[in-house]
Amino acid sequence: MILGVPVCVTDYSQIKQTIRNDLDAKRKSFLVAINPEKILKARKDSSLMQLLNNATYQIADGVGVVYASKMRGGKIRSRVTGIDSMTMLCELSNEHGYRIFMYGAKEEILQKAKENLLKKYPNIQIVGALNGYQKDNQIVVDAINESNADIVFVAMGSPRQENWIVENMDRVCACVFQGVGGSFDVLSGTIPRAPQWMQKAGLEWLFRLLREPKRIGRQIHLISFLFLAFVKRREV
Ligand code: UDP
Repeated sequence: MILGVPVCVTDYSQIKQTIRNDLDAKRKSFLVAINPEKILKARKDSSLMQLLNNATYQIADGVGVVYASKMRGGKIRSRVTGIDSMTMLCELSNEHGYRIFMYGAKEEILQKAKENLLKKYPNIQIVGALNGYQKDNQIVVDAINESNADIVFVAMGSPRQENWIVENMDRVCACVFQGVGGSFDVLSGTIPRAPQWMQKAGLEWLFRLLREPKRIGRQIHLISFLFLAFVKRREV
């Protein structure tokens, strides 16, 4: 638990196996990426706090979450990012034929991201894709149900995507749901991802800040989060 939000102590291989078990058992699960911004928002928004607590797997997406865990004597030692978890689910589809539905982002970004995934994973099963600007939700629900998808990626930014998942996961026949934020933008090649050395050094936030200085308002959260996590290090 970090400031009221649970965060799983896990790694990619463990989560891959766990999700595979969920898929095979047809058990519904919902994966949410936790970062400092979301934790701070949740502390001011009880419904978001409840939503994060009710997700099946909360992964340590932001490096701030890892730092906070370390300073509080927790067991999280490395990030399990949203985009790498999504890649891991794509590998599962490529290896075992699980069916993926992509929902979110602008149409051309969505199509390009899909095309790149199909190039990278020749056996991946992408059974449907809808952009994130469809106003009639029934069309979205019907499209996912007709596709018979097992996994749904929702790329609409936070907390919109998480709210959509909670409101719709029981109406949609798929098992595994993941909110993937701007991952389709990265996969489409529209937004570059930080180089490996920056990812490893926990500096992905800096890369995003240098690319998009207007994110400063969002990233300032990292500092206030670390301060709060330290001050309240004895609080769950
Ligand atoms: N988006 C969408 N529908 C909306 C609003 C946003 O599909 O109504 C998409 C937007 O096109 C972008 C993604 O949501 O692809 C938001 O990415 P952002 O980087 O803001 O998410 P983060 O990873 O920061 O949560």
